[in-house]
Amino acid sequence: MRILLFGMPGVGKGTQAKLLSSKLNIPHISTGDILRQTVKDGTELGKKAQAIMNAGELVPDDIMIGIIKETFSQPRCKEGFILDGFPRTTIQAKELEKLIDELKLSNVVVVTITAPISEIIKRLTNRLACKNCKSIFSKDELEGLNECPKCGAKNSFYQRKDDTEEVIKNRISVFNENTKPVLDYYNGKREVFYIEGNDTVERVNEKILTALNKFSEKV
Ligand code: AMP
Repeated sequence: MRILLFGMPGVGKGTQAKLLSSKLNIPHISTGDILRQTVKDGTELGKKAQAIMNAGELVPDDIMIGIIKETFSQPRCKEGFILDGFPRTTIQAKELEKLIDELKLSNVVVVTITAPISEIIKRLTNRLACKNCKSIFSKDELEGLNECPKCGAKNSFYQRKDDTEEVIKNRISVFNENTKPVLDYYNGKREVFYIEGNDTVERVNEKILTALNKFSEKV
């Protein structure tokens, strides 16, 4: 199965993608994680991407399309994938559709997680990530801990530079301006499931799996 995971920043895409990846045994492709790795590695692309990401803006389409083409050519993506954070613009979506046609990829489904803006801002300002395993937590659940509950890494928590209130507001407006139209593009073109994300991680995951089962029965 090939899942395109949509939703505003902070809606829980990363967390759900990781869970789905281990349950369905298909790779989680996060374009945000790929870019953060290039920043960490200090590559030319990383240097270019860093300032854009810190401001909550979008990395240019041609760069992102190049990243996706390279990723899709990897053997791990052969049997399926969960795409988290791509496409974010209609240009990216159209290029992705071309690539899907060229590579004759089947079973492509769009899953959109939704949540109220107030909840999203609360979650993003309250979130920490583990440098080692990239798991995401709320500050509340890590209170008093210095070891990652998922991988055991010590003192590995950090707040993303783009999780400050000002940048979060910009990321939300960038989403409304550039990424919402992508959903309009997919409506009627591909099966789109809307999942209410203002719920526990487990329940959101169950709802996504139910939707995916429905999709599998149809194709
Ligand atoms: P994320 O981890 O998905 O929230 O992505 C973090 C940041 O990486 C975004 O705010 C963008 O600056 C950049 N980014 C990730 N994916 C894309 C994409 N498909 N197009 C443009 N920029 C992206």
